[in-house]
Amino acid sequence: MAVSVALFTSDLRVHDNPVLRAAVRDADAVIPLFVRDRGIRRTGFDAPNRRAFLADCLADLDAGLRRRGGRLVVREGDVVAVARAVAVATGARSLHIGSGVSGYATHRENGLRTALAAAGCTLHVHDAVVTAVAPGRITPAGRDHYAVFTPYLRRWEEVGVRGTLAAPRAVRLPDGVESEPLPKRAEVAGVSPGLADGGESAGRGLLSSWLRGPLADYGDGHDDLAGDATSRLSPHLHFGCLSAAEVINRARQRGGPGADAFVRQLAWRDFHHQVLAARPDAAREDYRTRHDRWRSDEDEIAAWRAGRTGFPLVDAAMRQLAYEGWMPNRGRMLVACFLTKTLYTDWRVGARHFLDLLVDGDLANNQLNWQWMAGTGTDTRPNRLLNPVVQGKRFDPHGTYVRRWVPELAELADGEIHEPWKLTGPRRAAIDYPDPLVGLAEARARFERARGLD
Ligand code: FAD
Repeated sequence: MAVSVALFTSDLRVHDNPVLRAAVRDADAVIPLFVRDRGIRRTGFDAPNRRAFLADCLADLDAGLRRRGGRLVVREGDVVAVARAVAVATGARSLHIGSGVSGYATHRENGLRTALAAAGCTLHVHDAVVTAVAPGRITPAGRDHYAVFTPYLRRWEEVGVRGTLAAPRAVRLPDGVESEPLPKRAEVAGVSPGLADGGESAGRGLLSSWLRGPLADYGDGHDDLAGDATSRLSPHLHFGCLSAAEVINRARQRGGPGADAFVRQLAWRDFHHQVLAARPDAAREDYRTRHDRWRSDEDEIAAWRAGRTGFPLVDAAMRQLAYEGWMPNRGRMLVACFLTKTLYTDWRVGARHFLDLLVDGDLANNQLNWQWMAGTGTDTRPNRLLNPVVQGKRFDPHGTYVRRWVPELAELADGEIHEPWKLTGPRRAAIDYPDPLVGLAEARARFERARGLD
């Protein structure tokens, strides 16, 4: 009996999964394998919120496979050693995996190729599993990746996204393959209280209701902080409970300006992935250095992390991050700009804090968006600064978002809420809220001096 292995990584789903489909087609029986990889644990990348969400994803994947006659096989250890041991023990002739973009994913792929070859098992690496269009599939003349989004988007649209694959009808396991117990969400300590539920079923439910309703208003509405008007699909995309290709295909079927704007955001996701695939060092180093000599004031950094900077919109977003392990894009842009430009602090400090908390924390999207905001990445206007008061008046004009997350300011009028430092006398004294960490004008001048723009 021919046996294959489907090694799940960032593709924890049965629908539209080229890895699972190929493994099922390739053999009479398939081992759906997930390795709780000690290599990833050593990188400190498995923060509590993502560990908890992952536990949901694995439970749901197991349920999806059981409905098809199979089940998930979970093992803990070094991914290469575990995959090889499984291949040897079962006589598997092929192992299928989705291609990754990080340095670690490349290292894993190389390790698997060598170890499996020695065991007589062929490695098949599938593209367009994590992204909709594979990194490296489209490149500008003479370069290995696009450094600017707009021309990338044009080519991305021309090339198009692959069709959606159906889930396999049946998944048959060989006899005698044991699994270790699946991790449980309840066993993870330090999880944000408002963390969303993970898993393919939750993700597909969210996608369907998003497509049926709010998507239509996404074009104009996505930056409305009070309206919570984005899809919140990012953790499901990060863990691969949803495939980016299927999300795009289904949004396009709906059509309209909302769908166009939404698909464009998914192209940003592919864009950052193709940058990281070509430049894995950009996870740690400036993509395009500005020779910054960053400041490092521990008190300021602590205030930023705690949501006590004295700028209500910044603080609201940081508190949402702590409570939910998630933040809308407008909030992420603002707090990242505030840290890297207003406080002129190294983007790596902020990126690390985000990775410690974000349920969708993703090396490509996180590091490269941080770099974009810091002006060390692919932004063609690297020195733009977002003013938290102006942003507040524009994207939270009634202060609803600030009131939700900064209850100390709940009693302030709409016109006051983004500038509480302007209050005087007993009204100011009655509020337990810090004064601004910095003056915005001085901070801007400091940043411009540092970047040689004065
Ligand atoms: P929607 O607005 O509904 O967008 C749909 C999808 O498009 C998202 O789920 C996401 O997959 C993709 N997308 C949207 N905006 C971007 C973007 N700017 N770059 C790349 N993909 C995008 N996203 C992550 O998934 N993981 C991260 O770790 C991450 N870190 C970020 C850090 C900073 C400093 C910034 C500015 C942005 C970061 N983003 C990250 C991108 C973006 O903020 C989130 O993807 C988005 O807020 C998720 O919410 P949503 O699913 O409701 O997005």
